[in-house]
Amino acid sequence: MITGSEYRQRLNKMRRNTYMDGELIGRDDSRLEGAVNVIAKTYDMPTDPEFKEYEDVMTATSHLTGEKVNRFCHLHQGPTDLLAKQKMIRVYCHQVGGCIIRCMGMDATTANDVVSSEADQKYGTEYHKRFMKWFKDFQDNDRTASCAQTDVKGDRSQRPHQQLDPDLYVHKVETLSDGIVIRGAKVNNSGAPLEEWIEVIPTRMLTKEEGDWAISCVIPSDADGVKQVLSGSKFNKFQNLGEPGPYGKVHSTTIFDNVFVPWEHVFLNGEYELGGRLGLLFALFHRHSYTGCKPALIDVLLGAAALMAECNGIEGKGHVGDKLAEMISVSELCYGTGIAAAINATKSASGTYIPDILYSNVSRRHAGLHVFRGYEIVADIAGGLPASIPLEGDWENKELRPFLDKYIMRNPKVSAENQHRAFRWVEDMALSAAAGQNMYGQLHGGGSPRMEQIAILGGYDMERTKNIAKRLAGIPVDEKYTFNRLGTIPNL
Ligand SMILES: Cc1cc2nc3c(=O)[nH]c(=O)nc-3n(C[C@H](O)[C@H](O)[C@H](O)COP(=O)(O)OP(=O)(O)OC[C@H]3O[C@@H](n4cnc5c(N)ncnc54)[C@H](O)[C@@H]3O)c2cc1C
Repeated sequence: MITGSEYRQRLNKMRRNTYMDGELIGRDDSRLEGAVNVIAKTYDMPTDPEFKEYEDVMTATSHLTGEKVNRFCHLHQGPTDLLAKQKMIRVYCHQVGGCIIRCMGMDATTANDVVSSEADQKYGTEYHKRFMKWFKDFQDNDRTASCAQTDVKGDRSQRPHQQLDPDLYVHKVETLSDGIVIRGAKVNNSGAPLEEWIEVIPTRMLTKEEGDWAISCVIPSDADGVKQVLSGSKFNKFQNLGEPGPYGKVHSTTIFDNVFVPWEHVFLNGEYELGGRLGLLFALFHRHSYTGCKPALIDVLLGAAALMAECNGIEGKGHVGDKLAEMISVSELCYGTGIAAAINATKSASGTYIPDILYSNVSRRHAGLHVFRGYEIVADIAGGLPASIPLEGDWENKELRPFLDKYIMRNPKVSAENQHRAFRWVEDMALSAAAGQNMYGQLHGGGSPRMEQIAILGGYDMERTKNIAKRLAGIPVDEKYTFNRLGTIPNL
C-alpha cells in the first residue's frame, strides 16, 4: 500500500492532458486540490492510528497474494467483503463530507472481473487472463482508476448505431494487429484526471448491430489521444477559522480522439450481449457502494440539521425531532438494505461475489428520492442565515467583529465563534457550487432514477407476487407456493 504523498508524486509525473476553462493545466492546479485531498485520504487513513478501529474495513487480504491491500484494490470474495466495503465507504465519506471518488474504479474493476470471466466461458476468449494480469499490477501497486461509462448519448430516442454521428457513443473505429482504436467521449467521469487508469465500459444494453460499441478496455489517464476537459469544485477552506480539507470533486468530459488500446488492455471486443451485462453489472456494484455513501451523506446533513437546531436553541422541539427521525429512517433503511444485499450476494463465474440486485437498487432509489428533502430539512431548521452570512473577511475587520459576534448569538451555550463556524460550514455544505454537484451526484450518480426503476422491476418476479393475491382471491394457481424475496438467513 502507498501513502497519500506517494500518490501525489505519481500524479505529478503524468502527461499534461487536462484542460480547465480554456487552459491546459497540471494535476497540481489549485482547483483540483479538494479532489486530490479526498483521494489522498484513502491512502493515508488505512495506516492512521486515529482510524485503527476501521483498519479491517479499509484493507483486505488479497486472495491472489495473501498480502494486505487497500480495499479499493480488492475483489469481493464473499458477503463479508461486501459488508466491509459498504462500511468503509460510510466511514470515508464522513471524513470528507462527500464522495470518496475511488469507488467508481473499484466497481468497474469488479464488473470487468466478472464479465471477462463469463466471456471466456461463453466464447473461449482470453479476456479474464488479460484482466487478471492488469489487475495484479493494479492491486500490488495500490493504483487508482476512474470509470468512464456515461456516453454523451446524443439524441436519447435513438440507439447508438442510429445516431447521426456514431461517435456519440464511444466505439471501436479500427482493428489493428496489436490492438484496437477507439473514438468518442464520455461525460461526468468523476476523478478521471486524478486516477491513473480510465476503465471504459458500455453504458447500456446493446443490439447485434452494435458490436463496435461493445468495448471494455483500460486506458492510462494521460494516454495519447485522451483529452480531459474538467469541471471541478471544492468546499471553501476557511481563511482564518481553521478546518480540515478542503475537500472537493472533479469531473471530466473525456475525449477519446482515436486512442490506441493494446490487446492486453481490451477485456471485451464486440460481444454485444455481454457489453450490456457489463454496463448493468457496474451499475449494480456501484449502487451497492451507494448503500455506504448515501447513508453517509445523509448523516452529514443530519449532523448539520442537529447542529443548526443546537445553535438556534430549538433542540428537542417537536417538529425538529420529527425531521431528524425522518432523516435517520432514510439513512438507516438504505444502509440496512445494503447489508441485506451483501448477505444475499451470489458467487459469480470468476469467484467474485455480486450483491443482490433488488436490495441494492431499492436502497439507491430510496436515497435518491430523499436527496433534496435532506437539504430542505437543513434549510428549514437553520433559518435563512446560511444564505446571507457575511464573508469571512468581515469577521476579521476590527470595526465589524464586535457587532457580528454580538448579533450572531442565538443559543447562549454556543459561543459566537462556534455559531460563526457552524453557519459558515452549512453555507458551504448546502449552498455552494460543490453542494450543488453533490445534489446532482446523489440523484444521477450510478444511473438516473428511471434506471433504478427498470432494474427493480427487471429483477422482480411479479407473477409470484400476483399468485399471493390470486390465492387470497380464491383464483386457482397451478404452481405450489414459493416466493423468491424471502432472503437468506445467515448462519450466525
Ligand atoms: C456528480 C455526478 C457524478 C457522476 N459520476 C460518473 C462517473 O464517474 N462515471 C460515469 O460513467 N458516469 C457518472 N455519472 C453519470 C451518471 O451515471 C448519469 O448522469 C446518469 O446515468 C444519467 O445519464 P445522463 O446524465 O446522460 O442523463 P439522461 O440519461 O439523458 O437522463 C435525463 C432524463 O432523460 C430520461 N431518458 C433518457 N433516455 C430516455 C429514453 N430513451 N426514453 C425516455 N426517457 C429517457 C431519463 O430517465 C432522465 O429523466 C455521474 C453523474 C453525476 C451527476
